[in-house]
Amino acid sequence: MRALVYRGPGNLELTEVADPIPGPGEVIVEVAAAGLCGTDRHLVAGELGVPDGTIPGHETAGRIAALGDGVDGWTEGDPVVCYGQVVCGACAACLGGHQNRCARPVGFGMARPGGFADYVAVPARCLVALPDSVDPAIGAIATDAIATPFHALTTVGRLRAGETVVVIGAGGLGLHAVGLARMMGAARIVAADPSAEARDVALAVGADDVFDPSTHDQPGRALRKLVGGAQVAFEFVGRADTVEYGLECLASGGRLVVVGVGHDRPQLPPIIRFIGMELTVAGSFGSTLADIATVVELIDRGRLDVSQSVSRRVGLEDVPGLLAEPGGPARTVIDPAESPGGHSGGSREGSRGGTDG
Ligand SMILES: [Zn+2]
Ligand SMILES: [Zn+2]
Repeated sequence: MRALVYRGPGNLELTEVADPIPGPGEVIVEVAAAGLCGTDRHLVAGELGVPDGTIPGHETAGRIAALGDGVDGWTEGDPVVCYGQVVCGACAACLGGHQNRCARPVGFGMARPGGFADYVAVPARCLVALPDSVDPAIGAIATDAIATPFHALTTVGRLRAGETVVVIGAGGLGLHAVGLARMMGAARIVAADPSAEARDVALAVGADDVFDPSTHDQPGRALRKLVGGAQVAFEFVGRADTVEYGLECLASGGRLVVVGVGHDRPQLPPIIRFIGMELTVAGSFGSTLADIATVVELIDRGRLDVSQSVSRRVGLEDVPGLLAEPGGPARTVIDPAESPGGHSGGSREGSRGGTDG
């Protein structure tokens, strides 16, 4: 099969590799779509320290092409999406349904070969069924770019109808947070991002207002004034300054949910203010299999508008050139069948699972 293989910093090579063979409990997925995410850019830039020979790709959708021994409940040809990590299925977190906190996760598209290939081997416990009516490209990004903000807004943020929401960082995750907050009945949604392009997209996907933090000395104070104090803010950047202004924009009793990943150490407000206002700061990491299944259903039923989520569809051979470009707010999805000599024909044009309307 063909695969995109990491060959050291800045070097991703399209090459022939051996077809994967399913181990016990595993299936082979014929890849129909693989999301190209910021993580993949960092990986190919050499920032994640993965070994030569790594096949990236942790946002994958396709059809089951073969079943390993002991796989129950799945049939060849079933459309599926793959969870973004290979989880153990046996630790306390996995048994409790919190796969995002698995004690022994193996990085899909890092320590294990990922979806930037014609085929990929995946344990059956890491699959979620994808209805035929949902475009695999949407399914692929649902596993991360949509399910991660869904987990943050529902399980961790406990967003209620009528609340005022601030979304900090209007990239792939933040933009989906805007759409989800709208679906969940937020009264007012304000998206903050220094990029004019990101702010424009945020307005297009349903933000009521946008905010440019780069034009304020004290963005938290300015944002608080603009929204009149947010009940809940979601931070998708992972930096100290954005966490700090996310806290500062809250109303009394407000919650800040930090989703962005980073190594900074943000400061809390003075304790007297923090306790006097009964502020909450919570971390939210990834999503669970149940979150992904719910997101897929919301998309399939047309509840969630993801019509602007996929900006571009490319073949495997287009990816090395694309990695040199900055990633825009919407997403690029790889479809191996787009390549000359791809493994399957047929057009999926127009099959967006009823999500356009
Ligand atoms: Zn991702
Ligand atoms: Zn586990």
